[in-house]
Amino acid sequence: MKILVINSGSSSLKYQLIDMETEEVVAKGNCERIGIEGSKLTHKAKGKETVVEQPMPDHNVAVQLVLKALTDKECGVISSMKEIDAVGHRVVASGEAFKKPTRVSDEAMVLMEEIKDLAPLHNPAAIVGVKACQAAMPGTPMALVFDTGFHFTMPDYAYMYAVDYKHYEKYKIRRYGAHGTSHKFVSQEAAKYLGKKPEELKIITCHLGNGSSITAVNGGKCVDTSMGFTPLAGVPMGTRSGDIDYAAAEYIARKEGMNVTEMLNYLNKKCGMLGVSGVSSDFRDLTAAAADGNDRARLALDMFNYACKKYVGAYAAAMNGVDCLVFTAGVGENTPMVRKGICENMQYLGLEIDEAKNEEKNNGAIRDITGRNSKVKVLIIPTNEELVIARETMDLL
Ligand code: ADP
Repeated sequence: MKILVINSGSSSLKYQLIDMETEEVVAKGNCERIGIEGSKLTHKAKGKETVVEQPMPDHNVAVQLVLKALTDKECGVISSMKEIDAVGHRVVASGEAFKKPTRVSDEAMVLMEEIKDLAPLHNPAAIVGVKACQAAMPGTPMALVFDTGFHFTMPDYAYMYAVDYKHYEKYKIRRYGAHGTSHKFVSQEAAKYLGKKPEELKIITCHLGNGSSITAVNGGKCVDTSMGFTPLAGVPMGTRSGDIDYAAAEYIARKEGMNVTEMLNYLNKKCGMLGVSGVSSDFRDLTAAAADGNDRARLALDMFNYACKKYVGAYAAAMNGVDCLVFTAGVGENTPMVRKGICENMQYLGLEIDEAKNEEKNNGAIRDITGRNSKVKVLIIPTNEELVIARETMDLL
């Protein structure tokens, strides 16, 4: 069985074709600059990379090009589209409309339209991606897999905000979280690696990338997560502020003459590591600048590590302990100074890392950096969101 995983962005479309017997990626690629000049498809299969530069006025054309690449005599991996048994679509926001992966149907697409405001940059793109795939592959079963899905096991006292209850009822204002497929994948991989069942473990997963979130997984289920109604909440990120006193935001807006939309744009795009350091949102640039003596880059990194550390402490309290701490995603997998900064002075939790192992280069495999006297296992686990989407699509269909 082969499943095509589609991740549609406003001007991009990433894809992976996964053979579910072996869970191997047979082909993957990315369409960039859809609807803008300079559209390009990069397709990787059979150890080769093929670049197609061709106008892609919309996602329909992009999907046609992807299917053409997948079935191409030279760079293709299947003889016809009929070999694609199902399509799994990544969707960022679900609201309370979808609590689990859902089969694409007319009814589901009506609901998708209703909730698209929850992630105005992402959800409309997913709708376009689904429609483009339906046009190109009529009759192929498709699933919607939500980034929020893993977080629906949170208890009400963890997901509710202390606002007027009628606004929860009317607008479903609450914590939804994000990166759910990643937190689910790495927590399951951690249990497998430790030779235990997920039900036996208390795990804290740190998905640290350009966007970062931290999740408490108790007995295989999410019980709390750092992102909120949108991915703006939680720890500071590449360009996002993370948690902030709203009165401070209102004060800046008033002084700088920003309206609400401008303020949110500022908090999402101009703050975080970029805003504090004035250097970059990218952790490679930040660690290099800090090593060169740039004090604001040092400050941004210290703030990030400290915020993550506080979430780890909070979630250990929430679960009455922690057996395993997992690092994943671009920063979690590749930045030793972040892992060190988060894990130092955690002896009270019985958590210590092996500093030499922590410094070893990423080899793409699971790495155990647990310190000799540590009671808590500390693992680095490469994430694989596409595989989770493919598995959930297969389970559903
Ligand atoms: P997202 O998926 O949220 O866009 P990623 O998980 O790809 O982000 O993480 C991007 C971040 O990871 C960047 O800040 C980057 O500096 C950092 N990073 C550090 N080392 C590497 C590396 N070797 N490869 C990729 N990203 C890295």
